[in-house]
Amino acid sequence: MLVGVMLLLWSLMGERQLGHDLHYSRFRELLKSGQVETAFVSTERIYGKIREPKDGDPPREEGEPSGAFDYQTRWIRDEQLVADFDQHGVDYKGFTEEPSSGLYMLWMLPLLLLPLLFLGMLFRARGGGPGGGAMGSPFGFGRSRARMHADKETGVRFGDVAGCEEAKTDLAEVVGFLKNPKRYAKLGAKIPKGVLLLGPPGTGKTLLARAVAGEAGVPFFSISGSEFVEMFVGVGAARVRDLFEQAKKQAPCIIFVDEIDAIGRARGVQMGAVNDEREQTLNQLLVELDGFEPNSGVILLAATNRPEVLDRALLRPGRFDRQVVLDAPDFEGRKAILAVHARGKPMADDVDLAAIARGTPGFSGADLANALNEAALLASRHQAEKIAHADLEEAIEKIVAGPERQTRRLKDVERRRVAFHETGHALVAYHTEGADPVHKISIVPRGRAALGYTMQLPLEDQYLLTRAEIEARLVGLLGGRAAEQVVFGNVSTGASDDLDRATRMVREMVCVYGMGESAGLMRCASDPDQPYLRGPGTRLQRDCSEATAQAIDEEVRTMLDGYYARAVELLQRHRAELDKVATTLLERERLDAREFADLLAEGGE
Ligand code: ADP
Ligand code: MG
Ligand code: ZN
Repeated sequence: MLVGVMLLLWSLMGERQLGHDLHYSRFRELLKSGQVETAFVSTERIYGKIREPKDGDPPREEGEPSGAFDYQTRWIRDEQLVADFDQHGVDYKGFTEEPSSGLYMLWMLPLLLLPLLFLGMLFRARGGGPGGGAMGSPFGFGRSRARMHADKETGVRFGDVAGCEEAKTDLAEVVGFLKNPKRYAKLGAKIPKGVLLLGPPGTGKTLLARAVAGEAGVPFFSISGSEFVEMFVGVGAARVRDLFEQAKKQAPCIIFVDEIDAIGRARGVQMGAVNDEREQTLNQLLVELDGFEPNSGVILLAATNRPEVLDRALLRPGRFDRQVVLDAPDFEGRKAILAVHARGKPMADDVDLAAIARGTPGFSGADLANALNEAALLASRHQAEKIAHADLEEAIEKIVAGPERQTRRLKDVERRRVAFHETGHALVAYHTEGADPVHKISIVPRGRAALGYTMQLPLEDQYLLTRAEIEARLVGLLGGRAAEQVVFGNVSTGASDDLDRATRMVREMVCVYGMGESAGLMRCASDPDQPYLRGPGTRLQRDCSEATAQAIDEEVRTMLDGYYARAVELLQRHRAELDKVATTLLERERLDAREFADLLAEGGE
């Protein structure tokens, strides 16, 4: 390669040295006056030497060297030429244009660069290992290599992952094997090659994978599935090959493919170039999975929150046959996670992590870590030395409902309406059997939309809801609008979110839980099929006939009307309490569970 470049430079320089450029006419003049000493004639050009001018020679033209010089000229088909050479005693000779002519080399430039580019890609595809990427290739193609990480020591231990004891137990076997592969081999035990970590986002899948490597004290190779899929065709597959090659050299070790659904998606569903690429990558992954021996000391971990889209081929025995599920943590889990993340943070004495854990059902590990961090930020904002319990409460409210909007000024009539609306929710819940206790009422605007909110919290984690409990929630949800109706005699736009949620809940009752008349026990809606990504906003898809759908709509409407009537009736009955709590709320802007309970106790109805 280098030789080629040098040849090119040499010939370019050579061209310049080949001589002064002469017009053909001038060349003939010099020839006629007998000054041309030598001539090398090719098919296109003549090169040679002009001698020192003698007395009596015609003067040199402007720009021409005054002494002897080398010349070149592009000649015109000239029958006379050889005769004239002979006449003037020129030493002449013919030759074919040398291939190293500068011009030719210029044309070859792209040709020369091509292998260079190719080499670059090869470098990237197989050369250097993880971490060796800095050198990469001459053209920086290796850049993306840096995104494949190899950690000698992840620095994470099982102790840093809390609230998923079962998952840790499942993975302890893998750790044991990595620590002492020989013992397992001696017993003839086969350790799974691939372990798939499943769970909703933020439950610590990535963290746990790193902890396995940390506990076993083995290197940790990781790459994210989406990084495999690149525009360069074939690179994704090459990377898989590369990853396994590197890892095998360092066995025992862990290869971790994060977000594996990016490549492991069931094949042949969509079409297009990107998909082809993904498919090749997936195929390569399958080949590699089958290719290495069960006890070679390499264990593949992968994580996803979309297990339902994974290609079945990935999950069959001998591949990712072991699956470890990480779920949103329960109360004990949340308490443990909070404790892990509170380490190294100065906590005031009043901090009650158990209370925080109780108040955060549905929070993932990442949410909790985030809450603690937010609390630390809040504490530092008011120059506190330690994080107080109030900081934590505020941080959680901020995560749930959005940041406070102190600047959003409501008109007095609006504030009044919001206060009654929120009190309506709280009071209905208070008086309904099976509703979750009220945790907090606030009329401080938060986030994008909420002008106020009522937070209700279950006493314990709940995995089942009875029909009565769902209905209690529904009546509570409609309590806001009911209060507006009862107090002001009219309603506002403020209840749109409540109505949306209530409608969805009733629809689910009828279509999914078999609690309605029109569909009976028939399930007539289908999930979007993403068990770990379902949130309150997930919409169901209709899966029934037109006639049934119509009947369902009717019934949903009737049910909603019924719950609303219950809410209105309840508030009318407790009108005095409604006024009292709302007035206090207007004064204080927020009420916590105890203040709310105290107010109602005083009233002594
Ligand atoms: P996932 O990969 O499941 O989406 P991560 O492992 O990336 O989630 O978690 C993000 C962060 O949340 C972690 O770095 C950690 O700080 C915190 N976290 C999540 N789950 C836990 C847990 N079980 N114990 C301790 N911290 C956790
Ligand atoms: Mg992750
Ligand atoms: Zn409301």
